[in-house]
Amino acid sequence: MNIAVIGGGAAGFMAAITAKESKPEASVTIFEKTDKVLAKVKVSGGGRCNVTNATFSIAQLIKNYPRGGKQLKKSFNHFFTKDTVNWFESRGVPLKTEADKRMFPSTNSSQTIVDLLLNTAENLDIRISFKSKVSTIKPSEKGIELTINGEILVFYKVIIASGGSPKESELEWLKSLGYKIVKPVPSLFTFNMPKNPITALMGLSVPNVITSIKGSKLKQNGPLLITHWGMSGPAILKLSAWGAQDLAKLNYNFSLQLNWLGVNEEELRALFTTLTSSRKLMYKHNPLEIPKRLWHFMLNKLEITEHQIWNELSKKNKNRLINMLINDEFEVKGKTTFKEEFVSCGGIDLSEINMQTMESKKHKGIYFAGELLNIDGVTGGFNFQAAWTTGYLAGKNCVA
Ligand SMILES: Cc1cc2nc3c(=O)[nH]c(=O)nc-3n(C[C@H](O)[C@H](O)[C@H](O)COP(=O)(O)OP(=O)(O)OC[C@H]3O[C@@H](n4cnc5c(N)ncnc54)[C@H](O)[C@@H]3O)c2cc1C
Repeated sequence: MNIAVIGGGAAGFMAAITAKESKPEASVTIFEKTDKVLAKVKVSGGGRCNVTNATFSIAQLIKNYPRGGKQLKKSFNHFFTKDTVNWFESRGVPLKTEADKRMFPSTNSSQTIVDLLLNTAENLDIRISFKSKVSTIKPSEKGIELTINGEILVFYKVIIASGGSPKESELEWLKSLGYKIVKPVPSLFTFNMPKNPITALMGLSVPNVITSIKGSKLKQNGPLLITHWGMSGPAILKLSAWGAQDLAKLNYNFSLQLNWLGVNEEELRALFTTLTSSRKLMYKHNPLEIPKRLWHFMLNKLEITEHQIWNELSKKNKNRLINMLINDEFEVKGKTTFKEEFVSCGGIDLSEINMQTMESKKHKGIYFAGELLNIDGVTGGFNFQAAWTTGYLAGKNCVA
């Protein structure tokens, strides 16, 4: 029983280890096209590896996947966040949970995860073949034929875990086998606002904003970070993930609408009724939940001077200020892929796969796992969780 795993990333290692642990007599080889394995795990989570997320309800968990959530439900029923925690902890790698539910190894180092996967594979006698690019795959009577560096090798089962790529051409070898591919585009990126004066506030973070794309239903909330090139932070990254395909079609040129306070107009107008009876200076008295630098920036933009007293604010300026606080608008021109976590949306269409086993519906004996599938999550450990789950299922079922 010889099994080939294509790709030495998180999904490939999980698949290979699970296959070998489930069927020790199987011979398992990971074919990796580069001279390194687990490269993304190593750089993930800013070098700390955000392994998973402390969301232990499947119904809640699937809400974090702009693509694939519904289909993943079937897979999560077999292996989800709780199983990931057990998997690592039972192998001597305890995980810790941060306030926002992200889970990291308690060592705070991605090397701990890399070492665990490498050592486990070595102890199980899993072969790793470096610089081995698989260029074709063909089911035949003998088994599944792979062309690896020009040589044809035949396997009993094959797990494809070759990762995501924003280039459609990288998936050509699978397309030619007849698989439906959803055109890949980037997800989890930040918004560029070249030369916008707001970038002078770089480094500033606003705790709870609502972000939306003008002319669409896309809307997210959470903290926002102003950067030297535009805007970032969870409220932007989540919007980029849910809007990945729409924003690609707009060529990343669109209007971003911001509600800086995350409140509705009625609530804000009620608050303003109290404020505008005060004799305090507007520059000094900012009872709203926005940082001082941003408050001054807004007043400046509206040409409200340092001497302006709240109860002398004209009706016109009051309306302009309210509008700016809850309906501000910024032109986005381009994107920057977030250095901490970047994924591809798109890939192998999930209708091609049995999501309980990860086996191809077209070809018996071929399994898929990881980011090459049309699955992607928001930041927070959800992308690795999808890789662990699909890798585990592919590994388990290919030897069942
Ligand atoms: C900088 C960064 C940080 C991230 N941080 C996090 C995080 O903290 N938490 C989180 O959940 N997600 C994170 N992600 C996303 C996460 O890393 C990926 O979703 C996950 O690694 C995907 O795993 P994979 O095994 O499917 O693919 P990959 O890790 O991309 O592995 C695929 C492997 O297959 C090899 N390969 C490709 N084609 C072939 C071929 N034809 N033949 C042989 N080998 C091939 C590739 O060289 C690669 O080694 C991060 C991503 C980036 C870029």
